[in-house]
Amino acid sequence: MQIRPFELDCALRAVAEACAVTRRVQSDLDQIRQLTKDDRSPVTVADFAAQAIVAMRLQEELGPISLVGEESAADLRKRSTDGMTQTVTAAVRHVRSAITDNEVLDAIDLGNHDASDASYWTLDPVDGTKGFLRRGQYAVSLALIDNGVVKLGVLGCTNLSADFSRAFDDPDPIGCIYYASVGDGAWYLPANDIGVDAASINAAADISLDALRVCESVEASHSKQDDTARIVDYLKATSKPARLDSQCKYAVVARGQADAYLRLPTRAGYIEKIWDHAAGKIVAEEAGVTVTDIVGNGLDFSQGATLSANKGVVCAPPGVHARIIEAIDALGIAP
Ligand code: AMP
Ligand code: MG
Repeated sequence: MQIRPFELDCALRAVAEACAVTRRVQSDLDQIRQLTKDDRSPVTVADFAAQAIVAMRLQEELGPISLVGEESAADLRKRSTDGMTQTVTAAVRHVRSAITDNEVLDAIDLGNHDASDASYWTLDPVDGTKGFLRRGQYAVSLALIDNGVVKLGVLGCTNLSADFSRAFDDPDPIGCIYYASVGDGAWYLPANDIGVDAASINAAADISLDALRVCESVEASHSKQDDTARIVDYLKATSKPARLDSQCKYAVVARGQADAYLRLPTRAGYIEKIWDHAAGKIVAEEAGVTVTDIVGNGLDFSQGATLSANKGVVCAPPGVHARIIEAIDALGIAP
């Protein structure tokens, strides 16, 4: 049995609890209710409920925490009359039966830290909200960053099957949790029972380029799919890239189901957020995968809440990674 640090155990409990609630919300269309944020991205009852649940669990078990969460309760507080807050509270009550609206709003706002401390947690409560709305893949993604280094990460991939033959757009009834801490490998647990022994996961070895299996975003606005196709062509690979939402892409490379995850910039001005990468990166790296930006620099988590020193992501086992960076350079894809 693997001995886990206490913080990692807390993070696992928090993510598993949030996964159970996002699953309940997804099964009930009436609960999904959606807002559009100022950046025009969608946010649902599940995003708010999962952030409240993770924040409360971490604070209860670890004492005061610094948490950089994707969501804030500001919009809910503005819209307190339209019933969205009450629907979020109803979702949180699946795991905390007596909680009030105000307690839920305050819990969501525990995630308002600005990443200025030396050590903080970062959370994307529902990474891949568009996937969640399509009943595709999404991830509850939690990581601890200490002095610019990702120390541990947990990815709750609620709709991802442990069976590699299952299609990504076919939501699994159990789901997978992947986790890692620095130097301790990457691990799998079923999302519905984190009490069992974890299984170690590893990236694919001996990959032949012609059979290269690449994955990328479903959303064409999040990753330039034409550039992925050019790279695949350049490497003379024959299979079509798999498309799935969220940091589940890091997990499928980490568990050896795909050989690369490419995130290629669609526009010059977009800056990646730490909560979209921290947990996925450590899970992949601890499984033997190299994770960099598109010019081969490591993702720099010392820049606050964004990855402002990086552009895009290349995530692949070392040999394949080097060939992809070479292709990006040869094709002039990097600025
Ligand atoms: P994915 O599911 O991998 O497509 O990624 C979902 C994430 O993409 C969301 O959490 C957003 O933060 C992020 N995102 C939004 N706009 C962009 C963009 N233009 N380029 C890259 N990522 C984006
Ligand atoms: Mg996200």
